[in-house]
Amino acid sequence: MGKTLRLVLGDQLNIQHSWFAETDPDILYLMMEMKQETGYVKHHIQKVVGFFLAMRSFSVDLQDMGHQVLYWNLDDENNTQNLSENLSFVINKHHITHFEYQLPDEYRLDIQLDDFCKHLDISFKKYDSEHFLTERAFLAAFFKGKKTYLMETFYREMRKKYKILMDGKEPLTGKWNYDQENRNKLKDPLLLKKPKVFPKNVSSITALLETMEVETIGAIDENNFDWPVSRGESLEVLDYFCEHLLKRFGEYQDAMYSGDEFLFHSRLSFSLNTKMLSPLEVVSQVERYFECHQDSVSIAQVEGFIRQIIGWREYMRGIYWAKMPEFGSMNYFGHDQKLPDFFWTGKTKMNCLKHSISQSLKSAYAHHIQRLMVTGNFALLAGIDPDEVDQWYLGIYIDAIEWVEITNTRGMSQFADGGIVGTKPYVSSANYIDKMSDYCQGCHYDKKLKIGKKACPFNSLYWHFYNRNTDKLAKNPRIGMMYRTWEKMKDKSAILDQAEFYLERLDEL
Ligand code: FAD
Ligand code: SF4
Repeated sequence: MGKTLRLVLGDQLNIQHSWFAETDPDILYLMMEMKQETGYVKHHIQKVVGFFLAMRSFSVDLQDMGHQVLYWNLDDENNTQNLSENLSFVINKHHITHFEYQLPDEYRLDIQLDDFCKHLDISFKKYDSEHFLTERAFLAAFFKGKKTYLMETFYREMRKKYKILMDGKEPLTGKWNYDQENRNKLKDPLLLKKPKVFPKNVSSITALLETMEVETIGAIDENNFDWPVSRGESLEVLDYFCEHLLKRFGEYQDAMYSGDEFLFHSRLSFSLNTKMLSPLEVVSQVERYFECHQDSVSIAQVEGFIRQIIGWREYMRGIYWAKMPEFGSMNYFGHDQKLPDFFWTGKTKMNCLKHSISQSLKSAYAHHIQRLMVTGNFALLAGIDPDEVDQWYLGIYIDAIEWVEITNTRGMSQFADGGIVGTKPYVSSANYIDKMSDYCQGCHYDKKLKIGKKACPFNSLYWHFYNRNTDKLAKNPRIGMMYRTWEKMKDKSAILDQAEFYLERLDEL
């Protein structure tokens, strides 16, 4: 009887995968910490620590179940730090006769493993990761022949297919979408709850990273690393979310507040993206909670949350596989500016950016609207090269894995795909940021001014963006009105001069 090697990648921590249903002494599971993975971008230190902890905890769970696991730490004596070379070594050393792996979610790893298998002289087999609601190619087939890939159409299909918030063939309560009800500013900070955390001492891992010269960004409190790094902890975060946060999730999902990082957000993205939790179990638990607590939790909150997971998350994954690798180099506006240095320090006079960036460096987290309407909005208005924007987003967030990072950043946020993900660019002046946050109150700049020393940079950059992209945007039916407003404005040239002044001094803002 031959011996099988099964590779488990760092974001494939799905204990419910059919692989693990039965133990077999002839199957060896392989997990490896590698510099190939810590080095393809400069990651936030909490992201590297989070991944290593979650992988280690998963390997212990597998061994407790009776599986044979070979786990290599970053400094293992045999670790070449390269996936293909490590695999070849283990296959030889353990006399492996058959190799198996789950389809990776990243294009980079997909190509590497395909290439590796081409040169293998033993048999191999690929498996689905059994995590997503759809297969890789589903979205491309679903929208075949269509010019636009509307998320809403896809989302409704998922609701119907998985019978989520449905009443027969109709949406529960008769409405598909509660977005309009979900746009409030936080007025009462007393409503806020502390996040569910699991403080751990992680100094042995940070010491390992130092010894192995892994370059990272951001900060870490070695005594209080607090992200969930096991399935048990992830389930506790989900329970906590249902009990304490869900009832206000939708209402405040777009709100930003300088005194709190997480508001009513779930903090589940890391657990989901490493597959410690499955999207369907998260959504089912939320739906069950809603069914039992309809007196305290409204459909608007629940639909808002479920839409993010079976809608946006699943849709982004479909876009990734439909459009890679071309997606990775799209640059619709031809933007080529360098990312300002303050993205790496948080040192800027713009209060909204200061808060969103400092928080990201401190916690490896910012919620969706901070990512989209503060940092992303600014990068787009300032014409930053999407490659630089991608590198920043891919490195800084604990949940950043290319399939969900690049589609959100290059697609939704930077419109570098020319409108595959979004029907129009997400840009705004200070008006929107002020409407949804308390940032403008403590800012060096004046949210109302477009011109002058104290003028908020967003205000002139906003019009400069539209003006310089007239040929690309004016015909877009969702934007035409902006151009009519711009045409009627009196101080056009002063606004454009102000924007030029700022564009030449991005690092000083
Ligand atoms: P919640 O607000 O509680 O939402 C619940 C869940 O819904 C999240 O955990 C996530 O799994 C899912 N979700 C919500 N919005 C999206 C979305 N737009 N795309 C995919 N899933 C979504 N998310 C990542 O997981 N990884 C990334 O690298 C990433 N990069 C982003 C970059 C930009 C520029 C933008 C605008 C968004 C990005 N997002 C990314 C989406 C979103 O910001 C995060 O999923 C969310 O902030 C994670 O925090 P949470 O778990 O508290 O989310
Ligand atoms: Fe940001 Fe402008 Fe408001 Fe300052 S005034 S916080 S720069 S939007």
